[in-house]
Amino acid sequence: MHSRWDPHSAPVHPLEQAAYGARLLGSDPSLVLHGGGNTSVKTTATDVTGEDIEVLYVKGSGYDLASIPPEGFTPLRMARLRELLIVPRLTDPQMVNELRCARLDAAAPDPSVEALLHALLPFPAVQHSHADVIVTLTNLADGEQRIREVFGDEVVVVPYVMPGFDLAATVADCWPQQSHAGTVGLVLLNHGLFTVGADTRQAYQRHIELIDRAERYLAEHTAAAAGPPAPQDLPSIPAVELAELRQRISAAAGFPMIVSRHTGPTVASFVARPDLAAVATRGPATPDHIIRTKLKPQLGVDVDGYRQQYAEYFDRNATRRAALDRSELTALDPAPRVLLDPRLGMLTVGRQAKDADIAADIYHHTIDIITAGEALGGYRALDESHLFDVEYWDLEQAKLRRAGTPPMFAGQVALVTGAASGIGRACAAALLAAGAAVMGLDLADSVTETFDAAGYLGAQVDVTDPVAVDAALLTGVGRFGGLDLVVVSAGIFAASAPIAELDAGDWRRTMSVNVDSVANLFRAVHPLLVRSPVGGRVAVIASKNVPAPGPGAAAYSASKAALTQLSRVAALEWAPDGIRVNLVHPDAVFDTGLWNPELLAERAGRYGMSVQDYKRRNLLRTEVSSDLVAAAVVRLCSDEFAATTGAQLPIDGGSDRVV
Ligand code: ZN
Repeated sequence: MHSRWDPHSAPVHPLEQAAYGARLLGSDPSLVLHGGGNTSVKTTATDVTGEDIEVLYVKGSGYDLASIPPEGFTPLRMARLRELLIVPRLTDPQMVNELRCARLDAAAPDPSVEALLHALLPFPAVQHSHADVIVTLTNLADGEQRIREVFGDEVVVVPYVMPGFDLAATVADCWPQQSHAGTVGLVLLNHGLFTVGADTRQAYQRHIELIDRAERYLAEHTAAAAGPPAPQDLPSIPAVELAELRQRISAAAGFPMIVSRHTGPTVASFVARPDLAAVATRGPATPDHIIRTKLKPQLGVDVDGYRQQYAEYFDRNATRRAALDRSELTALDPAPRVLLDPRLGMLTVGRQAKDADIAADIYHHTIDIITAGEALGGYRALDESHLFDVEYWDLEQAKLRRAGTPPMFAGQVALVTGAASGIGRACAAALLAAGAAVMGLDLADSVTETFDAAGYLGAQVDVTDPVAVDAALLTGVGRFGGLDLVVVSAGIFAASAPIAELDAGDWRRTMSVNVDSVANLFRAVHPLLVRSPVGGRVAVIASKNVPAPGPGAAAYSASKAALTQLSRVAALEWAPDGIRVNLVHPDAVFDTGLWNPELLAERAGRYGMSVQDYKRRNLLRTEVSSDLVAAAVVRLCSDEFAATTGAQLPIDGGSDRVV
């Protein structure tokens, strides 16, 4: 490992330097993953009385080290922290309250629960990571010995203690006993590394130097055990199989879940291990991973078995805790977050796509840590009871609670055709905003970049090509696990022409895109919608031309009428499966790909109107936007319309030919 400290861009000011150093540490996933780790700096500040006081700036809750700004550090009065450090015992809620009260700025975020530990280390700068190599070495039966072999007595070694006040109290005992002039840091067994320095630069350099030494040691001692070269990616499996598994996982959770499949070489080698069941069920590499991965992955596809084991694990430990400190704990959902199977590879599970991605990042690192640990004599995690206490630690649960109530469509997966522009794009945006994961299809290649979000996957597809549509569905289901919602928005409007002058090619193409492709899509998505954990829903963008056709638009009007009838039949056929199919009939939506300023001016001119008046040519004299259509589509797909199927909703500003 090399230092990435750049003396030209590193700030001199202590707090700014602390933020710079924290970002260097946090942006290396082999050191810190998703909100893990913390850093601090001690300095002086002038308070409102004009007096200089000692201050500890420590990482604030809710900030990620990878991107933390100086204001992400909470200033705490050192004098008060010193007083707290000599109190014999503080409960977690007491400690959190006292730390809050020690802030210099009432608007600063809650300080890290490790603030007291940072305060007691007698150096201005402290950096803490969960480095892969440190947790690899300390998750071994002889972990402490290995650390001594690599670092000698340059680090203080502390046995695992639950983070918070107890850990600070333990370190307060160990540090004076073990430290000396050459001490550069602290290793917490089964947890991670702290380094100290006169400034952040020194704490960071020491961190990198220790990690580098550990990496060299690991490379030397695991080289002989390197297995055969990784196999290829695992082959694909039918989309329906994944959707069925997601349905069962969601049923176990009690709410819909995103399920992402991972099949790369690292995963393929790991799931092929003959001892997979033994090595994968020993627990997470560092305790705070448990809120993302649960204690153990599920092996194979027996979701009920996993649910039952989780319930037993909860009962066993909740009983222990009730006897110990009269805790009354409420069980978390018993669905797995990681599933391993020789044929499926690794599936990761989350309330939203980004949660499934975090579980995947963590478990990819866990695979490396377990593999190295096995080569060193045997990966061994903490006892179940310690891990349970972190999983059900109120301060860890608070991290998840900060995310707030999940949005309306959290855990649900939508497919939107025509997602690169107009009404399709607006529907995709509205569904993403409501928490759904969205697969967007479009003929335009910009569809792959229409949205930059973990919950979005775009594919350039000609919807009239059934093979391409099936392939896109297979990829999308591999990414999100299944399908709950379909929005049919792709459509074309061929050049206006009276019937006597109809171009046969235009007619055929309009029918092909607006009707035939949807019949094919319905055939392809039905087996997936049937397996939706919350009931499938389809919203079809038809047209006002269905109830009120216009001259010169024979192909378009006829195609949308056929599409309407197709959708009504789907509503009839699919109601027994719990799938709702509804239609909207927009009119005069001018912010779509069908319209451009020239066409608009030409049409307005034909009616002797200004463009502004032409756009509002309806009973309400209102403009109909794509966003308005999308808002109606989202509502139709929500539970507010749970009793509605086969409905046709005009979104046209009011038309005397429709009302
Ligand atoms: Zn930690």
